[in-house]
Amino acid sequence: MNPGFHYHPDEAISNTMNVAVRADQHLRISHIQKALADVAVRDRWLADANTLIVGGGSNILFVRERLDKVVQLDASNSGFIDEGDTVLAWAEAGLGLDKWVRWTVKQGWYGLERLAEIPGTVGAAPIQNVGAYGVQLSDVLVRVELWDREQQRRVTWQAAECGFSYRHSRFKAEPTRWLILSVTVRLHKTPPHDWPQLNYPGLHEAALHYLDDVQGTTLAVLTPHDFTQIVTRVRLQKLPDWRQPALGSLGSFFQNPIVANNLAAHLKENWPNLPIYPQHEINQSKLSAGWLIEQAGWRGHTQNHAGIYEKHALVLVNLGGARGIDLWDLAKQVQADVFRKFGVRLMPEPLVI
Ligand SMILES: Cc1cc2nc3c(=O)[nH]c(=O)nc-3n(C[C@H](O)[C@H](O)[C@H](O)COP(=O)(O)OP(=O)(O)OC[C@H]3O[C@@H](n4cnc5c(N)ncnc54)[C@H](O)[C@@H]3O)c2cc1C
Repeated sequence: MNPGFHYHPDEAISNTMNVAVRADQHLRISHIQKALADVAVRDRWLADANTLIVGGGSNILFVRERLDKVVQLDASNSGFIDEGDTVLAWAEAGLGLDKWVRWTVKQGWYGLERLAEIPGTVGAAPIQNVGAYGVQLSDVLVRVELWDREQQRRVTWQAAECGFSYRHSRFKAEPTRWLILSVTVRLHKTPPHDWPQLNYPGLHEAALHYLDDVQGTTLAVLTPHDFTQIVTRVRLQKLPDWRQPALGSLGSFFQNPIVANNLAAHLKENWPNLPIYPQHEINQSKLSAGWLIEQAGWRGHTQNHAGIYEKHALVLVNLGGARGIDLWDLAKQVQADVFRKFGVRLMPEPLVI
C-alpha cells in the first residue's frame, strides 16, 4: 500500500542555482492527508524546527553543503469551482507554478497570466508573494491551506490573514512554522476593464513583435494564453532560462529597496537618472536594486565561477562549479559596495541558508 510519503537517506537537493547540497534525511510527501495522519511525519519531521521545507529550490541559496532534514511536497492535484463569471482555482503545493499558470490560461481564465515562467512550486508562491509585471499573487489569492508545524493542526487562512506585502508574507516572517498545503485563487472568465495592460518596460514592444509573428491576432483580442507567450519572450531576454541548467540563478537576487523619500530625493540630486517609484500608501520610495548595482559597476563581473549576469545586474549567476559560499561572498561584496556608494542597504530576496 502506498503510504503517501517516502524517506530517502543522503539525498542531493536540486536547486536552480546549481549548487551542490545534500540532505542527511529527506522526506517526500505525495499524499498530504496520509502523511499528516502519520505521527512520525508530524512529530519527528514537521514539528522539528530544523526541518527545511524545499519546493523547487529556485529561491534558496544553499551556503551549507549539508542539511539535516528536508521535506518536499510532491502532491500536485488541482481543480476548480465554477462561480459563474469567476472560478475558484486551487492547486496542491507540489504542482509547478508555471504549469498551473499555463493550465489556467488555456482555460481562457484571466488573473495568473503575468506570473508565467516563474519557476518553483505553487506551495512556495505565497512565501514571498511572488510577483511580476505589476501583479502579485496576493492580487488573486483567496485562501491558503496550511499545516501549523508548532500547534500540529490544519488551518485555512483567507488572503487578508497572510500579511502580504511586496515580496513578503507572514509565512516568510515565521519560516519554521507553516507548511503550505494548497493555494486557491479567484480568476475571471472575461477580461478586466484595462485589458491588456502593457505599460511595463518591454511588454508593449514584445506584444507588437508577437502580433507580427502570430497572424490574425490584435492587441484588443489578446487572450491570457497570448499574454503568457509575450511574458515568456520578455523574460527570456533578461533572465537565465531556468529550464537550462548551464547557468544557475535564483532570478532577482536582491529586493528593490524601499527608502525614505528624503533619501531618494537626496540621491536624485547626485544621480539625476536614478529611477524612483513613489509608494504613496506608505509614503516612501522604491528604488531599482538593479540600477544601483549596475551604476556601482558590477554588471558582468565574475569571480570564482560566480558572477553578476551581464544581461541584468540584479541576477547573481553560477557560471558552473561555484559553491554556495562563493556566490554569497560575491553577493556580500555587491551589498557592501552599494551601501558605500549610495547609503542603501540591499536585502537578499532568497532564503540564504
Ligand atoms: C530565473 C528565475 C526567475 C524568477 N522570477 C521571479 C519573479 O519574476 N518573481 C518572483 O517573485 N520570484 C521569481 N523567482 C524566484 C522563485 O522562482 C520564486 O520565489 C518561487 O516561488 C520559489 O519557488 P520554489 O518552489 O522553488 O521555492 P524554494 O526555493 O524551494 O523555497 C523558497 C522558500 O519557500 C519555502 N517553501 C517552499 N515550499 C513551501 C511550502 N509548501 N510550505 C512552506 N514553505 C515552503 C522554503 O522553505 C523557502 O523558504 C525567480 C527565480 C528564478 C530562478
